[in-house]
Amino acid sequence: MLTVSDVGKTYPNGTRALHGISLKVERGETVALVGGSGCGKSTLLRLIAGLDSPSEGKLTIDGETISGPHPKIGVVFQEPRLLPWLTVSANAGFMLEGHDVTTRAARVAERLAAVGLADKADAWPRELSGGQAQRVAIARGLAPDPEVLILDEPFSALDALTKADLQDQLAALWEAAGTARTTLLIVTHDVDEAIVLADRIIVMQPSPGRLFAEIVHDLPRP
Ligand code: ADP
Ligand code: ADP
Repeated sequence: MLTVSDVGKTYPNGTRALHGISLKVERGETVALVGGSGCGKSTLLRLIAGLDSPSEGKLTIDGETISGPHPKIGVVFQEPRLLPWLTVSANAGFMLEGHDVTTRAARVAERLAAVGLADKADAWPRELSGGQAQRVAIARGLAPDPEVLILDEPFSALDALTKADLQDQLAALWEAAGTARTTLLIVTHDVDEAIVLADRIIVMQPSPGRLFAEIVHDLPRP
């Protein structure tokens, strides 16, 4: 379980980006963190990813204080950042260095299937569409079985059609197969995206970075 307790963040230049943020995310949930530009989404995700530290309060994963990048927490960025000289499966297995070859191959195959790309295992990144490349990045993020995978505006670099298509595909796949109990934390400014993908939506107030609403939605998916 991920907990954020009374977290505040003031940047060295005096900008108060977050204050009084508390939330709990249980393992296996798909949660969207929604808010407009400048409301503090990136700041909060950097704190959860251990890339920056809070000015007040505390963040924990399974009871352990988050004080730096943590193996239980992965991040998928806006751009897929695939290595062009590695195949799709080698890219997807990139975070599995410590594992033996058999485990690694099985894990990669499973995660590529979970994003609907089992047939692209031997392809090269240049042969993929933008949406497919981003799905490989998601498979790579899921491969080490992190407890939490943060997706930072994961579809913002895609055109509208690809984006809608990918959102629908992922929503269907995740509903059918689950994601090996990895908690997904999707950071987005797009409310429609949150509704399609998430079980729970947390809305951040534009300023000064205070959490003001939590919506549990259990509507049937479109
Ligand atoms: P969002 O991701 O929701 O757009 P951010 O977390 O990037 O919001 O920013 C929240 C507030 O903190 C904004 O006012 C932004 O200008 C400010 N901010 C973000 N990063 C820094 C930084 N490194 N130094 C100073 N202010 C920052
Ligand atoms: P995003 O694309 O996630 O919304 P932002 O535009 O919020 O990203 O921030 C991009 C980068 O710029 C971040 O690393 C953030 O720390 C930095 N940044 C954002 N606002 C400020 C600011 N007011 N002062 C200094 N750095 C900032």
